[in-house]
Amino acid sequence: MVLAQKEALPFAKTITPHLLKQHLEIIASPKMEGRATASAGQQRAAEYIEKQFQTIGLQPGNGQSYQQPFPVYQDDSIHAALSVNGRQFKWTSDFSLLPTSTAAQLNFAEAIFVGYGLVDSNSQTNDYQNLSVKDKLVVVLSGAPSNCPLPTSQTSISAKINNAKAKGASAICIVVSNLSTVKNALITKRLYFQPPANTIANICISTQVASAIMGLPSNTDMATLGKLTAGTSLAKINLQIHRNTQQLTSTNVVGVLEGTDKKAEYVVLTAHYDHLGVRNGKTYCGADDDGSGTTAVLAMAKAFAAAKKEGKAPRRTIVFMTVSGEENGLWGSQYYSEHPLFPLENTSANLNTDMVGRVGSDFKGDTSNYLYVIGDDKLSSDLASITDSVNQQFQLILDRKYNDLNDPNRFYFRSDHYNFARKGVPVIFYFNGVHADYHQPSDTVDKINFPLMQKRVQFIFCTAWCIANSNHLLKRNLPLQIPSR
Ligand SMILES: [Zn+2]
Repeated sequence: MVLAQKEALPFAKTITPHLLKQHLEIIASPKMEGRATASAGQQRAAEYIEKQFQTIGLQPGNGQSYQQPFPVYQDDSIHAALSVNGRQFKWTSDFSLLPTSTAAQLNFAEAIFVGYGLVDSNSQTNDYQNLSVKDKLVVVLSGAPSNCPLPTSQTSISAKINNAKAKGASAICIVVSNLSTVKNALITKRLYFQPPANTIANICISTQVASAIMGLPSNTDMATLGKLTAGTSLAKINLQIHRNTQQLTSTNVVGVLEGTDKKAEYVVLTAHYDHLGVRNGKTYCGADDDGSGTTAVLAMAKAFAAAKKEGKAPRRTIVFMTVSGEENGLWGSQYYSEHPLFPLENTSANLNTDMVGRVGSDFKGDTSNYLYVIGDDKLSSDLASITDSVNQQFQLILDRKYNDLNDPNRFYFRSDHYNFARKGVPVIFYFNGVHADYHQPSDTVDKINFPLMQKRVQFIFCTAWCIANSNHLLKRNLPLQIPSR
């Protein structure tokens, strides 16, 4: 192992503060418009990364293409209308749409009140008992009665929608005491990774709307509604929900450096190049998050390519992948893990770099020389020993406090390595911790500590070098045990 590192060092030295700054100033430039997934700025960043991979001499990772496209969905227009006995109610002050609602044009002559709309076979709870709701509109109260034995997962709004759907209802109105808590849950331009699910029409309504449906005084409150028995109310109800969903495309950018005697085995180096875009006229440049990781991947690609030119190609193939959709919910890496371009069972490890250019506000110690290493105690017992052996050279303070899966920050689950981990691939996540500029427009290049970033990226490069050149794929001998929340 020590020998492997020594061989890596001359190439690690090609990772300079100057090189890192050069790339990052472009990737986190305002011209990239914050790199929001499926935006023009994201595409521009993808083109830049692709061009770099090409220049470095990497092969395209997806057949003839450097890009792995994946679909995302967006509502480009949404409208809703609700009337009860001819009285029009207002979207969004009287009722609100939930993201899961289907489009609908529905007329009803009656509504079925189903109490809290709870169903649970274990506790023999069935608010739908003796009610026939097939193709009907059901009205249910949010929450649960005070003596309810069910866990919150079974009294949630989505559980109530599922119950109504399972019973054959065609629409559900959920009465909430404070509509502002769910207001505008369905908004134009919101992105989805999966197309809106095939559910039933579902809206949240105020107590006033519920009272109109059920023929009660308009000031009837939740407590009074909670005491009513289930049954049918006659009312003419018209519900219209229009949503126009279009399919967009985002991409992962993938370049490959072919290995030698173990070229059918892989080490995947990732970072996410997407960020938060432009919001309220402000550009979220995402220099640290995760322009720094994207830059790190480019610099490591150049260093490995330089080694290959000098006859020191890695034994395993290195896959350099910058993903998008991370900020929306790790979409790009999820897509890759479900449509891998290289077999995950032959992927020795994924090293993911997300925020390595700054000093986090929670680190206690020498802030000029530290790195959070997350996940090297899981999945493979090889990860920690390689990490420690490489660090003999670098003498970084490696803080492993976020290896604790019970840590409230849950960082282990919050970046792209997790989609490899959940498929059993050993992972390490490199991170500097959050700071005051995290997810703010003020996460800009001028705040990056390039000498510190250089040291971290060189360390990650040498770790990748060791994993790529070792005699065996990393052992997979530590099952990932995820604590229940
Ligand atoms: Zn990030």
